[in-house]
Amino acid sequence: MKYSDYPYERISVEEQNELLNERLERFNNAQSADEQIAVIREVDRTRRENISYFAMASLNFKRDLRDEAAKAEKEYYDSILPAMEEIDNRWKQAVVGAPFKEELKKEWGSTFLDKLEIEMKTFDPKIMEMRKQEIDLQTEHCELVAGAQIEFEGETYNLEGMAPFQKDKDRSVRKRAWEAKFAWYEENAEAFDDLYDRMVKLRHKIATTLGYENFIELAYLRMGRIDYGPEEVARYRKQIVDLVVPVVRKLHEQKKKILGLDPLYHYDGVHFKEGNPKPKGTPQEMVVASQEMYREMSPKSGEFFDLMVDEELLDLVNREGKMPGGFCTGFPSYKRPYIFSNFNGTDMDVRILIHEAGHAFQVYSSRNQPFVDYMWATAETSEIHSMAMEFLTWPWLEKFFGEEADRYRYMHAATSFAFLAYGACVDHFQHWVFENHEATPRERKQQWLELEAVYLPTRDYDDLAFPKAGGAWQMQLHFYQYPFYYIDYVIAQTCAFQYWIRNEEDPEKTWESYLKLCQAGGSLHFKQLIELAGLQSPFEEGCLESIVEKVSAWLDAVDVDKL
Ligand SMILES: [Zn+2]
Repeated sequence: MKYSDYPYERISVEEQNELLNERLERFNNAQSADEQIAVIREVDRTRRENISYFAMASLNFKRDLRDEAAKAEKEYYDSILPAMEEIDNRWKQAVVGAPFKEELKKEWGSTFLDKLEIEMKTFDPKIMEMRKQEIDLQTEHCELVAGAQIEFEGETYNLEGMAPFQKDKDRSVRKRAWEAKFAWYEENAEAFDDLYDRMVKLRHKIATTLGYENFIELAYLRMGRIDYGPEEVARYRKQIVDLVVPVVRKLHEQKKKILGLDPLYHYDGVHFKEGNPKPKGTPQEMVVASQEMYREMSPKSGEFFDLMVDEELLDLVNREGKMPGGFCTGFPSYKRPYIFSNFNGTDMDVRILIHEAGHAFQVYSSRNQPFVDYMWATAETSEIHSMAMEFLTWPWLEKFFGEEADRYRYMHAATSFAFLAYGACVDHFQHWVFENHEATPRERKQQWLELEAVYLPTRDYDDLAFPKAGGAWQMQLHFYQYPFYYIDYVIAQTCAFQYWIRNEEDPEKTWESYLKLCQAGGSLHFKQLIELAGLQSPFEEGCLESIVEKVSAWLDAVDVDKL
């Protein structure tokens, strides 16, 4: 079935309540574990449907923000979200208190109960009204960002549309493009500051209402982080400062030589004098190239990508009215993922497509897990699926970049490595923000600058006033839309590098491990999944050290003059 043929409907809170009440009665009066298991399966089926409708409403809106009917559906689903969370919460309480808990664990392992327990800690009917407000603020941010209209060289662009100019091979074009973009942020600075300020205060209040000291603890629970906490993350960030930042400095010096520019500014986001490698061919040709690549990679990946194409589960090209960004979503009732992105003719088109295809391949691979909650892993694991895929596809990059493939490889390795420092910076900032929820927008900017100096010491904004005054963090959507979803990328990148290193040595075994990880979905916790895949935990002593050693040796060995 094609995406456009999926049945869609509005669910009603009253009906969902009635359905749950009837099931709860049977569940609570069950005389055997089998009876309870049967009810759990029924609830799971309904949740799959509901999640699919939610995902469709949200996706259809993001595909065309100007479509009033799609907007109304998305708003409807947003409006019932807190009430649905309340329904979910009642169900979770019943399962966690089930008399046949031990038998349930035997059937499905303990992960699902652990997940329910942790989710229960993030909700209480007391916060329903505030959850509504939080969702509204997120929508407000979405609209602000998606509505951006930037005048540049006589044309109007959205944020995504500016990307090719920011990476132009002509330095003055790059600079003017960044100037124009930052000018838009400057014009809207008050709106952004005010919105974030309201978000921080609201999130803090939700957390304290639930009995937490601040939002950090709640955010970790929301992210489903069961087997590590803020202290471990802080130690990990410290390692990044000690081990990664010095190598990033070296890369910065190398880039100066490649570009023949000194000093190098933030707007010099290209890696080669001639500009970054550009994907060859039209979007349609890139889809065909991907299809060939995935067929050659393995029978399973081939089958997966073929159906993404056949069932129209891809929306890849940037167009007016489309929400910026790239993501993968899924429809569990149909056991299908969907890839959304905004091709704009830069190298990022390929990178994002492959990244999101990693997520999508995982969702597809875990489709037969018994629960919808076992289909998706927590974020730090999900980003391994996608970031490892970026490396596992290296042997096929000629299909996308032709003779520029080696340039892309170098750029990919270097930027992935430098990302570790940026990601840690973003994470550190969020911790600071919620430890200091009373801070003013001005103080936040000051703090961002201080953290940039630690994690990103080579960043130089030249004379661009907005980022120089600490405003650059406003470009990161996650602060608004997915709080604390960031160190996940850093953890995952550390694991993806392990896949890269292994793939050079033994591709067959590496694919086996990757497939195993994807198929396991979210049926285990992070550290268990890492173990299952035979990866080293990034938190483990020596893990980052050995990766830094290997990656920097590889980067050192690249003869940049020959690229
Ligand atoms: Zn991702």
